[in-house]
Amino acid sequence: MALLTNQPARLNWSDLHQQPDRDHRGARLLQALENADLRGRGGAGFPTATKIRSSLGSRPMLIVNVCDGEPLVSKDAVLVSRSPGLLIDGVALVAAATQAREVVFAVHADTPTEAALRALLGREGQLLPPSRVMAVPARYVSSEESSLASRAMDGEARPRFRSVPLTHGGVGGSPVLVLNAETCAQVAVIWSAGPPRAQLTRLITASGAVRRPGVLEVDDRFQLAELARPGFGEPQAVLLGGYGGTWLPWSTARQHTIASLAQSGVPLGAGLVYLIADECPVAVVGVILRYLAAESAGQCGPCMFGLPAVATDWVQLLDPAKAAAARQRLARRLPVISGRGACRHPDGAVRQAASALSVFARHIDFHLSGQCVRPSVAAAAAPFLAGAW
Ligand code: SF4
Repeated sequence: MALLTNQPARLNWSDLHQQPDRDHRGARLLQALENADLRGRGGAGFPTATKIRSSLGSRPMLIVNVCDGEPLVSKDAVLVSRSPGLLIDGVALVAAATQAREVVFAVHADTPTEAALRALLGREGQLLPPSRVMAVPARYVSSEESSLASRAMDGEARPRFRSVPLTHGGVGGSPVLVLNAETCAQVAVIWSAGPPRAQLTRLITASGAVRRPGVLEVDDRFQLAELARPGFGEPQAVLLGGYGGTWLPWSTARQHTIASLAQSGVPLGAGLVYLIADECPVAVVGVILRYLAAESAGQCGPCMFGLPAVATDWVQLLDPAKAAAARQRLARRLPVISGRGACRHPDGAVRQAASALSVFARHIDFHLSGQCVRPSVAAAAAPFLAGAW
């Protein structure tokens, strides 16, 4: 069974709400999630069962993240339009297991997905605890976990400093459990498939020089080589996991499956897979870094000042007169930014830049000698500017 096709049958709602079975059902659900090794779609890949278990007994606010927080990613939107019942069933299972006091569906404001969610809750909201749709600004850090909790508590969508986890009341003192929409839908699939271990799939958004742009459902055996456009030249490299992800040379990446990528420590995170073919990679990375710098919430020095400096250095790689010094500054600057913000926004930007510095080292040499013949910055930026931002 899967997320977009061949979906399982809907839950038996009267069974779900029967009181005597509730504790037993919650324990069974957690065991099934552990057996399936379901993990969140953040970079850390945190086990979902562990996260839910930490909310037991606290009657948390359950926030379902339906934001597609990356500009080129659209898997949450596709999930809501193709599999709304699976989303609601998964949310109902988690809400029942944790006795959630409220369910909040977080979605970017003024999008078709916001309208679809409001209609969905109008139809099926009575099957959940008190539920609402929460519109958040379409900013990169708005869908960070503490941003969502903050928005739900007091209206401001920006990351918060925390000394305790959200599930223990890390923002405003009330426990909050945040799960991604895809994770919730997976909960319904696993519950329905039950032991033995469900063969989990995952959603990725393929973009750039790919055979078929858009959202794909893949399993662990899927080979990245299948993404490339037949009949075109070999892609140069692939960005895995989104703007805060990791560049790999295509010659390496094409040999990987989803499973072997995970084993080699390359997270797929929000699921963006971007193949770069003809564009100048230095220009493309510069566009992404400028975007990430502009998306800082402006609260932490290393992020507020460090990311614009990194973006400026990177863009200077395009200028043969400035490229050598800019490359040296980047090598010095990148290692001192990570881990010093209230959220992981700067860590992702730095990870992406550092991997680009290594993967595109030879291409940067071309810029040092003024020999890059790839399309201009404007042409390289076009696919990104045509995205959601
Ligand atoms: S690290 Fe950056 S985005 Fe995150 S809270 Fe600090 S300033 Fe905001």
